[in-house]
Amino acid sequence: MVSVSNQEDAILSRLRGEGYKITPQRRAIVRAILSSDEYVTPELLLIKARQAFPSLGRVTVYRTLDILSQLGLLCTLHPEGHHPGYTLGRLDHHHHVVCSGCGRVSDFSEHGLEELEKRLSRETGFKIEGHILEFLGLCPQCQETNNEK
Ligand SMILES: [Zn+2]
Ligand SMILES: [Zn+2]
Ligand SMILES: [Zn+2]
Repeated sequence: MVSVSNQEDAILSRLRGEGYKITPQRRAIVRAILSSDEYVTPELLLIKARQAFPSLGRVTVYRTLDILSQLGLLCTLHPEGHHPGYTLGRLDHHHHVVCSGCGRVSDFSEHGLEELEKRLSRETGFKIEGHILEFLGLCPQCQETNNEK
C-alpha cells in the first residue's frame, strides 16, 4: 500500500517536472483528492480543498483537474446516474470498481481482456487501441448497511 504522502510527492514532482508551479492551492487540491476513499466531483473537491485553503477559487480547481488529466494522473469515473468523478492514484494501466452506494473506489489491473481484444479484432477487422472498463456495485460496508434495513 502506497501512503498518501508518497503519492502526493510523486504527483507533485511529476507536475514540477512538466514545468508547472506547485502552488499551495494545487497542493491542497491534490491532497484533497488523495485523502478521499471515494471519487470526488469538482464541487465536492472545492469544498474539501477549501478546508485547507479557504480562498480557493472554482477556476483553479477546474484548471488543476485539467492539468492532472492531461498528464494522465487523473482517473475519470462515470458512475451511473452521477456526474463524472475523479480519483488520483496509480499511474499504470488499471480500472475501477465503484460503489454505487457510497462512491468508494477500488482499482484492479488484471482482467484478461487481451484475448477478447484479439477476438474482436478478428471478428470486426478493427485494430483495437484501447478500452474503457468500469464496474459498479456495492462495497462490503454498503452491503451490510443494506442488510440491516
Ligand atoms: Zn484510477
Ligand atoms: Zn484494461
Ligand atoms: Zn459503498
